[in-house]
Parts: sequence; structure tokens; C-alpha cells
Amino acid sequence: MIKSLCVFCGSGRGHDPRYSQAAARLGGLLAERGVTLIYGGGNIGLMGDLAEAALAKGGKVVGVIPEHLVRWEVAHLGLSELIVVDSMHSRKARMFELSDAVAVLPGGMGTLDETFEFLTWRQLKLHDKPVVVANEGGYWNPLLALIDAMVAEGFARDEHRRLITVVERVDEVIDAASRALHPKLVPHPERF
Ligand code: AMP
Repeated sequence: MIKSLCVFCGSGRGHDPRYSQAAARLGGLLAERGVTLIYGGGNIGLMGDLAEAALAKGGKVVGVIPEHLVRWEVAHLGLSELIVVDSMHSRKARMFELSDAVAVLPGGMGTLDETFEFLTWRQLKLHDKPVVVANEGGYWNPLLALIDAMVAEGFARDEHRRLITVVERVDEVIDAASRALHPKLVPHPERF
């Protein structure tokens, strides 16, 4: 099973309270299953809900935040560890180093930037860490449709589309990431 999971999600909460509930559910599950949460270190939006829920259940939470965002994203001061870095680039690199896999919850442009940096690194074979998109409420359907269109129009390959593991609920994230990391070790219900 994965030991650490990097989660990208909104610094906002969105309009539908189910997004916030989903972030909190994932935080709780990570703590229960002993998976360290690596995230952007903020105490706002879904990021804050996620971290709060993991901490409340005794989970280990590591935040990675650039110095200039410490005030803006209200750096969470109750984390197991808060790593302050010098730039957005260092933040992504550090989050990448610290985690076994990445999960993506609903979010905005920052979430997209982070996700695509990890995905394109993987497309270029710089790493092989799973990227799991939690499509809660179908939030990411338009993005997935765009990626399908890229494949259909010849701007991306089907094998690149398959680098993204899509699950419909956050409850499936940890198992999906673990399976993608160690396909032979973790039983997949569909294979039996
Ligand atoms: P958002 O999805 O826009 O609410 O942002 C989620 C997180 O992504 C926040 O922690 C932002 O600081 C971060 N973020 C925003 N823009 C970038 C960027 N260009 N590179 C890396 N992270 C970013």
C-alpha cells in the first residue's frame, strides 16, 4: 500500500458542500489507514478541510508552502510538519519527492497546474507515480472529455490518457493509488 499521498485540491470550497465533505472524508481515511498526507500547507478551502480531518483522526500531515503564500493561504500551524520553500516550483518538486502517488480533488487553476505538471512529467517518463483523479459529483468530467478530445484529434496518445486513474468517490482513492503503484501485490476485485 502507498505510505504517502500528495493531494491537490482547491484553496476554495466550491458552492456544493459535498466537495468539502469529500475532502474531509479523504483526510479521515488517510489517517485511519496510516497514509501520510502531503499537501500545499494552507488552512483554507478544501486544503484546510482535508488537513483538519486528517489531523483530527491523528494522521500525519506534511504541508509544503512557498514563503510568499504563508500569509495568503494561511499556513496551517498545527501540522505534523510545515516545510517552507522558496518558490512554486520548489513546492511541486518537494511534494513530488515526498509522496508515493498523487490524488486530485475538485479545485481551480492551481489544482490544474499542479496536476498537469505531475502528469506531463509522467508522460515524459520522468517518474511512474500514480495520478488518481477523484471525480466527485462528476466535477472533472469536462476535463476528462477534453483529454479524450486531445486523443481523438491526435494531440495526445491513448497511453497518455491511461496515465490518469479515475475514481468516482474519494473512498476509492487509496486503493486505486496502491493498485496502480503495485499492480501485482494489491488484489483488484475485477480480476477475480
Ligand atoms: P486553486 O486550485 O487555484 O484553488 O489552487 C490550489 C493550490 O494550487 C493552491 O495552494 C495554490 O497556491 C496552488 N497553485 C496556484 N497556482 C499555482 C502554480 N502556478 N503552480 C503551483 N501551484 C499553484
